[in-house]
Amino acid sequence: MRKHAKLIVFMICVVLVSASAVSGYLIAKKQPRVVERKAEEVEAVAAGADADTITEQTIVNLYTKYQMCNHKSFSSFPATEDMQGLSLTEFQKQYTHTRVLEFSEDSIVIENTFNCYCPKHYQLRKNGSLLSVYRTREGSDEQYIYYETNVKTYGIDEDELKALRVGKLFSSMDEINAYLEKIKTGD
Ligand SMILES: [Zn+2]
Repeated sequence: MRKHAKLIVFMICVVLVSASAVSGYLIAKKQPRVVERKAEEVEAVAAGADADTITEQTIVNLYTKYQMCNHKSFSSFPATEDMQGLSLTEFQKQYTHTRVLEFSEDSIVIENTFNCYCPKHYQLRKNGSLLSVYRTREGSDEQYIYYETNVKTYGIDEDELKALRVGKLFSSMDEINAYLEKIKTGD
């Protein structure tokens, strides 16, 4: 009996250990590297980077996060002229909204966060007496008119109009056209 009990305890331990290893692995696999980094690590990177400055050879790895849809994009490019010659402290002073995750002469890893939808989305919104399609400019929280429809807001259902004042989100122009057809036949 005692032998059995010991064996069961041992078996439970094995199951628990492997379950936590698997879930730990899954969590690590799911999260991008940038999110995984801890604040202390970043500061350690910063502390060691004091002597380094950005040159024209430095590669910039830029992560852009859009908070409204939680989408992220990544781009990599040689340091721009504005960045060249800057130390970490100088860089942080100049780019106050940019989070620096890594900083060395070879490459820097930085992250920008914008409180808007990413450029993939199409937002249909009331623009005066007509409806226009708005999109976000890449790497900014700036919106621009992507397409002006000739659909008038006059006669559109009040609830629908309420949503259109804020902006209705679509993932393609086809979806927008289908929606416009629907509200047109509605009146
Ligand atoms: Zn998005």
